[in-house]
Parts: sequence; structure tokens; C-alpha cells
Amino acid sequence: MKKIKVKDKEFIPFVSEHKIQRAVKQISQQVNQDMAGKVPLFLVILNGAFIFASDLLRKITVDCDITFVKLASYEGTSTTSTVKELIGLGEVVKDRTVIIVEDIVDTGITIDHVIQMLKKMEASDVKVAAMFFKPDAFQRDFHIHYKGMDIPPDFVVGYGLDYDGFGRNHPCLFRLV
Ligand code: 5GP
Repeated sequence: MKKIKVKDKEFIPFVSEHKIQRAVKQISQQVNQDMAGKVPLFLVILNGAFIFASDLLRKITVDCDITFVKLASYEGTSTTSTVKELIGLGEVVKDRTVIIVEDIVDTGITIDHVIQMLKKMEASDVKVAAMFFKPDAFQRDFHIHYKGMDIPPDFVVGYGLDYDGFGRNHPCLFRLV
């Protein structure tokens, strides 16, 4: 596979579509096993998680609700410490098993906030499903129950992840050159 240019930056192929799909399948099998007899609420964090959520949720066989929320914590290629509020959560979370569906956990600040919010709303159980995880950038200590794969702390695009709004549409992952 070739390099791609997204706006002013070059990215090289990093994780293939095949490898990503294999990880999604493994996550779905684990979720289906753990959630047997339960009715979880999947909380998809937009925009980045839309492709992961679409692939994962089509493989979920237990009864479930799916909801989409928005948060914004990134601009360009650098993180900011302020996390905006959760927008669009209409579902009742109290006494429910909630599975957060996220594209990537980097510092962990974003998901840590979401977990705290869901706990305040009295969710009975909060689990995290993340396609990519950067262990060397992680600054929090929550558990990622369903993880696709670890990656180095490089900036990546594709599979839902963007650089300045572009690059989300690629079915595989690219790394900044
Ligand atoms: P955290 O709060 O864990 O540092 O960051 C989480 C959010 O930052 C993710 O939902 C994602 O939107 C964004 N992010 C983190 N790392 C990357 C990356 O390498 N590429 C892109 N495009 N976004 C990232």
C-alpha cells in the first residue's frame, strides 16, 4: 500500500484492514459472551468511532440499545486538556450496563471524563471498548475491557480517525511520516 497525503501531511500505511477486522471480530465475540442475558447500552463517541461502531455492532448478537454522543477534545495533531460536554445523550443510563465505544484511547482524559459522567448518572456497570490504545501516552488508570490493539504514541488517521476533518474514510490505519 502507498503513502497518502492528507491536507499538508504525509501518512504511511500502518495497520491493514484485515488486521483491524480480525480485532473487531475478537472484540465482538468477547462482548457477546460477556453480555449474554444482559441488554447493554452502547454509547458511541462521535465522530471518530463511527466506523468501528458500525463494524462492531453488526457483529453483536445480544439485545442492545445504541446511542451516539459527541465530545470534542482534539484540534489538529495536538491534544488539549479541556473536554467538552456530552452532547446528545437522551437515554436513561441509571441501572444500565453501558459500553462506551471509542476509536482510540490516547491520554485517556476523554474517556475518563465520560466514565465519571456515566457513574454520576448511576450506570450500574461501565465498560470501555476501544479499537486502538496508546499505552505510552496513557495518563489514567481505567480498564479497557475490549481493546482492538496497542499502537505507539504516533498520530494516526483512517478507520474513522481524521486529521483536521480529513482521512476518516480509509478502511485501514495510517501513521504520520
Ligand atoms: P485522549 O483524551 O485519550 O487523549 O484522546 C482521545 C481522542 O483524541 C480520541 O477520541 C481521538 O478523537 C483523538 N485522538 C487521539 N489520538 C489520535 C490520533 O492519533 N489521531 C487522531 N486522528 N485522533 C486522535
